Amino acid sequence: MPAATPALIDAHGRTIDYVRVSVTDRCNLRCSYCMAEDMAFLPRRDLLTLEEIAGLARHFVKRGVRRIRLTGGEPLVRRGIGELAEAIGALRREGLAELTMTTNGTALPKFARQLVAAGMRRINVSLDTLDAGKFAAITRGGVLAQVLAGIDAAQEAGLTVKINMVALKGVNDGEFARMLAWCGARGYDLSLIETMPLGEVSGSRSETYLPLAAARAALEARFTLIPSTHRTGGPSRYCDVAETGARVGFITPLSANFCASCNRIRVSATGTVYGCLGHEQKVELREIMRANDPNTLDQALDHLLKGKPARHDFDIARAEPAVARHMSVTGG
Ligand code: SAM
Ligand code: SF4
Repeated sequence: MPAATPALIDAHGRTIDYVRVSVTDRCNLRCSYCMAEDMAFLPRRDLLTLEEIAGLARHFVKRGVRRIRLTGGEPLVRRGIGELAEAIGALRREGLAELTMTTNGTALPKFARQLVAAGMRRINVSLDTLDAGKFAAITRGGVLAQVLAGIDAAQEAGLTVKINMVALKGVNDGEFARMLAWCGARGYDLSLIETMPLGEVSGSRSETYLPLAAARAALEARFTLIPSTHRTGGPSRYCDVAETGARVGFITPLSANFCASCNRIRVSATGTVYGCLGHEQKVELREIMRANDPNTLDQALDHLLKGKPARHDFDIARAEPAVARHMSVTGG
């Protein structure tokens, strides 16, 4: 279906057709690379309402957005998330090609069927280790069995599951082959992700940063990786795994920059839209949504696109993070 109003194109000629929406900054886990232990969360009254999020999503679709990913924080802890997914899923009749979600999986037994009924077909579940003790340590108290039950529920409901694994030196770097074999046996693709310097966390990110070339070398000692042209709209670059028939993707914001092909912007739970994960450049849309003013909304989005940075400048060696906000504000 053609977009009713001009497409979202930035000053570098990149078409934005993918929006990630953080529906809450809250989470039931506290992954050490993502959050500080004593995170202060936003007051609930500052959040966009579900109706405002759905209205914004509809406006994005009118401007040519084809993919929307719900994320967070943990999207499944936002009250009414199932209904929000239904409202956004209905936009497939207006030109949305795909609604997806990134989740820690713990609440999927409760929501997987509703997400499928809303039109979701694929879901990313974050899982950095298959070792229950290590999982509890990384997530500061999370229970691995809950995530595994969530993954089972997603699969039973008919969702295609992809696993996201942040590569952490000295933490899970001995487990890449095990995770790839486990995913392959279950028919899941796996994306490995380099840790990014977003927000203060306890400990130094440079100590756990692992360039994915090292992870790939470890995998190639056991598997045959064949470069693939497969794309899902995100930044993962995939290989087919000859031995399993599944794929492994590499998300390398630090070691192999992919900003030239960036196709996305990110909405926070309070209606701030960021042009780039690694910069503060933003526009505030909450009051515009409350005023129900589509023209001002378009102007704000056009302003954002004009200033969307060409690339992030993540530097893991710098002591301070690239931006003060944590990944849970803008979602992954
Ligand atoms: N709670 C959900 C989850 O964990 O999947 C969704 C939000 S989480 C912020 C999205 C993704 O970002 C997860 O795969 C997580 O591992 C990843 N992530 C969080 N902080 C990160 C960081 N500093 N660098 C790289 N990836 C990060
Ligand atoms: Fe929560 Fe996801 Fe961040 Fe872990 S990565 S603390 S699950 S938001």
